[in-house]
Amino acid sequence: MKISQLFGTKPCVFSIECFPPKQTTQFAAMQDTLRRMAQLHPDFISVTYGAGGSAGGVSTVEVARFLKQELGVEPIAHMICMGSDKVKAAALLDQLEAAGVDNVLALRGDRTPTRPESPDFAHASDLIAYVRSAKPGFDIHAACYPEGHPEAPTLAQDVANLRYKQEAGATHLLTQLFFDNGHFYRFLNMARRAGITLPVSAGVMPIVRRSQIERTVALSSASLPSDFTRMIARWQDDPVSLHKAGVEYAIYQLRDLIEGGADGVHLYAMNDADVAAAIYDGIRDLLPAT
Ligand code: FAD
Repeated sequence: MKISQLFGTKPCVFSIECFPPKQTTQFAAMQDTLRRMAQLHPDFISVTYGAGGSAGGVSTVEVARFLKQELGVEPIAHMICMGSDKVKAAALLDQLEAAGVDNVLALRGDRTPTRPESPDFAHASDLIAYVRSAKPGFDIHAACYPEGHPEAPTLAQDVANLRYKQEAGATHLLTQLFFDNGHFYRFLNMARRAGITLPVSAGVMPIVRRSQIERTVALSSASLPSDFTRMIARWQDDPVSLHKAGVEYAIYQLRDLIEGGADGVHLYAMNDADVAAAIYDGIRDLLPAT
């Protein structure tokens, strides 16, 4: 199924992101998590590009296959340029096709010391063009950045660069997480003015643990509005209250985005089915009945 076609039929598409477990022994627990997430009626679940076979973890393909074959949930498999080339990408696409998965999120990938640059794909748009020609039946999704990608000189230039993804054949954009909806609305206006016509799903991550503040918030380079920093300052030493406040903040963000007309909302649930369920409860009245 082409997930991008949902955007013409639903006022707001609801989706969740998960990541493959690092150890194969954790896959059974992960499957329980995904079963519980499936009960929240997501229109799709995206699976990050994970450890991969050689590292001993569960692969993105295995998780996507489980979602599709066992749970009947439409998956989007992330794939990246870094460390890949046309031969490896072709093999991955064949594996996905064999698993019944035909939606991919084509990314450049984060630069890490263990990931060499790709000789074939400098940018996500090169990978998108390759997938488009190798698997014309696949639906290709891509990333965007409401506050601009950190390597782009300006937000305007980053938005202009989205044209490459659209022209190469992407059909839907998923945003980087953000904590201030004002950035999303501003970005969307800029993107539409720049000729980006693709539907855009707004990505929200609930911050429910102190460790996330140090890692995720710092790494994402998302700016922090005063409501959010006040919440953190108030509850950072009280884990139970921080958890509750983090869920409430994400619900507040998501309700505003849905009511503000976002094409889709994408929950970075960090493999936490309890958090995903609590947030779904807080927004389900705004989502179309399934
Ligand atoms: P690109 O589109 O290549 O953009 C990178 C930079 O180049 C930007 O500054 C952009 O403005 C510029 N640019 C883009 N196209 C061109 C062009 N044709 N010519 C010149 N300049 C250009 N990382 C992982 O490793 N695994 C994951 O599973 C993963 N999932 C993600 C999911 C989402 C929704 C998002 C938002 C990010 C995810 N990432 C993941 C992180 C992502 O790989 C990084 O942010 C990476 O640095 C950029 O990826 P991109 O696809 O946006 O790259």
